[in-house]
Amino acid sequence: MDIITKLKQSGLTGRSGSSFPVGLKWEMVKNAKAKEKYIVCNASEGEPYVNKDYYILKNYPEEVINGMKIAIETLKAKRAYIYINKDYYKEFGKTLKKLCIGLPIKLIEKQPGYLRGEETTILNVIEEKPPLPRIRPPFPTQEGLFKKPTLINNVETFYFVSKIVKKEYCKTKFYSIAGEVKNKGVFELPENLFINQILLQTNNKPEFDFFIQAGGGACGKILTSNELKQPLTGLGSIIVFNKKNTDVFKLMKKWAQFFNKENCDKCVPCREGLYRIEEIVNKKVITTEDKAILNELFTTIEQTSLCPLGKIASTPFKSAIEKLL
Ligand code: SF4
Repeated sequence: MDIITKLKQSGLTGRSGSSFPVGLKWEMVKNAKAKEKYIVCNASEGEPYVNKDYYILKNYPEEVINGMKIAIETLKAKRAYIYINKDYYKEFGKTLKKLCIGLPIKLIEKQPGYLRGEETTILNVIEEKPPLPRIRPPFPTQEGLFKKPTLINNVETFYFVSKIVKKEYCKTKFYSIAGEVKNKGVFELPENLFINQILLQTNNKPEFDFFIQAGGGACGKILTSNELKQPLTGLGSIIVFNKKNTDVFKLMKKWAQFFNKENCDKCVPCREGLYRIEEIVNKKVITTEDKAILNELFTTIEQTSLCPLGKIASTPFKSAIEKLL
């Protein structure tokens, strides 16, 4: 059976948060008519409290490189890049370079900046252009690096590609658990577990009244302790907060400062919308009128922002206001 069919049959979906079917993405690049094709392994991991790619690079770097090697051969790619977080480069650069000897794989260090981890921004950085997102379509599978079809998968996805080809894939996923828990860290567990099962199995179920931020670090959605009978989507991150000790306005202020610092100011809804959100949460009181303004802002930002940062930035605010205030 060929590799793409194996990937399709495994049901593996991208582990960068998008959950796009991996086999289908590979097939799109394979079928694209072009002489040159490229591959990018996104190892930029910059989401606060998410460190699963760090864990995989530390413990299983050979699986990641093997997954990339399979991609290079299957898609007949001209070159592949590992676009890697600066700190990870310092720690794992030597090992990765050794594993890449004889392969057309180059390491590119990511400079600080959340947006530099966005996939079309990565393409611009590798091409030595300004680090800004591109308008989609065209998608990277059609027109990516140097205007050629490009496969972008992250570290965890390449790890599981290797496992699938070696017949060692057991439908697991990596979870980063942080916040007010006894046993912080990264855990590999079945991908269909409910959030409450993940907390129990990792010995992290709090005994106090709590809520969590689930899915994607700072972009994650707030869930109360009664909403945990559901699978964990996105980047597989859980941050636990003690309800009694957490100042929700302080928390929202932190998110607002983070998104305001990290957005690139390129489009109005994201730039102005995030500024207005920060202004409102700084007041420490949210009136009915504020709520109406915020709801309008959330919808506009979600629907009209150019890149994923803007599209998901309102998620934590929306859920926190709805469930915690
Ligand atoms: S959505 Fe925000 S971060 Fe993305 S391009 Fe627009 S201004 Fe920049």
